[in-house]
Amino acid sequence: MTRDPPLGTARSEMLFAEAQRHLPGGVDSPVRAFKAVGGTPRFIARGHGACVWDVDDQRYIDYLASWGPLIAGHAHPGVVAAIQDATTRGTSYGAPTQAEVDLAVFIKQAFPTIDLLRFVNSGTEATMTALRLARAFTRRDLILKFDGGYHGHADGLLVQAGSGPLTLGQPDSPGVPSAAARETLSVPYNDVVAVRDALQAHPGQIAAVIVEPVAGNMGVVPPAPGFLEHLREMTREHGTLLIFDEVITGFRVAPGGAQQRFGIRPDLTCLGKIVGGGLPVGAYGGRAEIMQQVSPLGPVYQAGTLSGNPLAMAAGLATVRLLTEPGVYDHLERLAARLVDGLGEAARSAGVAYSSNRVGSMFTGFFTDQPVTDYASAKRADTRRYARFFHALLDRGVYLAPSQFEAGFVSLAHSEADVDATLNAASAAFAEVTLVGDEP
Ligand SMILES: *Cc1c(COP(=O)(O)O)cnc(C)c1O
Repeated sequence: MTRDPPLGTARSEMLFAEAQRHLPGGVDSPVRAFKAVGGTPRFIARGHGACVWDVDDQRYIDYLASWGPLIAGHAHPGVVAAIQDATTRGTSYGAPTQAEVDLAVFIKQAFPTIDLLRFVNSGTEATMTALRLARAFTRRDLILKFDGGYHGHADGLLVQAGSGPLTLGQPDSPGVPSAAARETLSVPYNDVVAVRDALQAHPGQIAAVIVEPVAGNMGVVPPAPGFLEHLREMTREHGTLLIFDEVITGFRVAPGGAQQRFGIRPDLTCLGKIVGGGLPVGAYGGRAEIMQQVSPLGPVYQAGTLSGNPLAMAAGLATVRLLTEPGVYDHLERLAARLVDGLGEAARSAGVAYSSNRVGSMFTGFFTDQPVTDYASAKRADTRRYARFFHALLDRGVYLAPSQFEAGFVSLAHSEADVDATLNAASAAFAEVTLVGDEP
């Protein structure tokens, strides 16, 4: 395949320089700055279907999907119409609306473990509040999470690496009080023994185990067979709540999220991303007796000026309704399998060490020949090779997440032709990767 000339980046470069004078790092969320892969982040001008166009008018087949929400693709006509329609009636009232009820009913039908839920504005708010609620309900302070698990940027959750199951957490960011970090334990993902040891070492003290039932923020890592079942059993034994952070997986890996796909009933569920259809939404919900502790029913305080915003509810409802069409998830599954299998083959042909993980339409290809089952094995991936691959694809009009440790997403807007074009580009990109040596 002949190499097209590299796409132009003059306007993105200009805007990035300007942005850095006003926004820290030129961005409003860190990974967007391309630090992990180098180079200039593309400033996006518009999106349509499976593609985005940058300010230099270069087109990219998009597998970032705004980090997950855009399961219907960009500017889906039904979603756009729903938002436009809502806008004509005003943008916010600070009072209850029918749209909140409609979306709540819809979510409850998909998630039978949710009796009551509360809408918030981000996944971060959802997880932060779910933890407060779990602590209030259990009258315990400690939280157990998993290394490499991301649950938003609340203080107690910016803790990744204890050196072992019994080690109390260290903050991952300056500004997180050590007292907050000390309330968080972190153990390796998929490590049942570490969870058991932590629960036994802190009897009656762990309020909740919070887990991404399919990890998506160390790159995609599926739960090992039995892992989620064991979590359910062990937390129940210890009077600890099980919180599924389904901010990515909700409506992504099945309509009812990972809990439907794997048949597990958590006590609380956090949602975001897809339920907002590309507008800012989060939600937390679960068993009635727990959720009844939330103000104004109960004493656990949580509020939001724009929570349940009518435009956001309209976008969310329009998006999740699209997902009820028959065959939608089969289509996503088939297309993602075609893509991920094809990438694996292309890597093999090029002789590049590469290990694929996929659950439904979320996937990551790691530049390592070892299986990736947790954060430690994810970290073995060669990030220099990922950076080379990322840019080689970007130059050929394919947009992956600008970090090895993120998920890619296939949407309903992607076609087989998009996937095939991506695989063509990937063959050439893997060939470039072989030029990256093994030395660090
Ligand atoms: C994105 C994400 C969050 C945080 O959601 P924001 O809307 O970015 O605050 C929380 N948990 C998981 C699993 C996520 O992927």
